[in-house]
Amino acid sequence: MAEIAERIREVNARIGAAATRAGRDPGSVRLMGVTKTVEIDRVAEAFAAGLTLFGENYVQEGLAKAAALPGAEFHFIGHLQSNKARKAAESFAMVQSLDRPSLAAELSKAAVGLGRVLPVLIEVNLGDEESKSGCTPEEAAALAERAGEWQGLKVVGLMALPPWSENPEATRPHFKALAALAERIRGLNLPGVEMRELSMGMSGDFEVAIEEGATIVRVGTALFGERQRNG
Ligand SMILES: *Cc1c(COP(=O)(O)O)cnc(C)c1O
Repeated sequence: MAEIAERIREVNARIGAAATRAGRDPGSVRLMGVTKTVEIDRVAEAFAAGLTLFGENYVQEGLAKAAALPGAEFHFIGHLQSNKARKAAESFAMVQSLDRPSLAAELSKAAVGLGRVLPVLIEVNLGDEESKSGCTPEEAAALAERAGEWQGLKVVGLMALPPWSENPEATRPHFKALAALAERIRGLNLPGVEMRELSMGMSGDFEVAIEEGATIVRVGTALFGERQRNG
């Protein structure tokens, strides 16, 4: 297996090439290392190699890594239970998986208590698969319309985890749909909403996602290798 630093260089080069192909500034796309089940030592190795943004799916695991790596930016990207909202608001720079009003209320209350405004992305379930978290496009628009109610939150964009496919081109229509939804919500000029981030694209399809407007690509396997099963 290649060194993590080398993989980061490779993925960054592919990000740059995809952005350039799409006529975009490579600096407009951020690489997030997805570190669920990855040991702290290897996350530290990635941080030392220059990767500064990480995504975690589990609150406790993310807390431990964030505490061990001051200066690194951790976003929460997993399904968030309301009873973990306080811990998440405390320890993560952004929550990318807001998918229901009750969670927005809990996160906002926690953020207000901490004296901060927490940036959040609304997670949209484009594949309409029951097993995955995320709300429907209609629910996403409805959540954005209510953003002004949640003083502790600022909605800064959308996140999606489309149905997995071996062929990245099969995912392109989902990326297009997410970008179009963001555009539609942006056009509403809602209070508490600034549609500037599109978090989409993973190891198998991040180049296609960049061509369709991704500003954050969430890459696990291509940086850290295969995860343990159920990881
Ligand atoms: C695991 C995960 C990823 C990364 O997937 P890879 O295919 O390993 O790059 C991205 N986003 C979310 C929400 C994940 O859970």
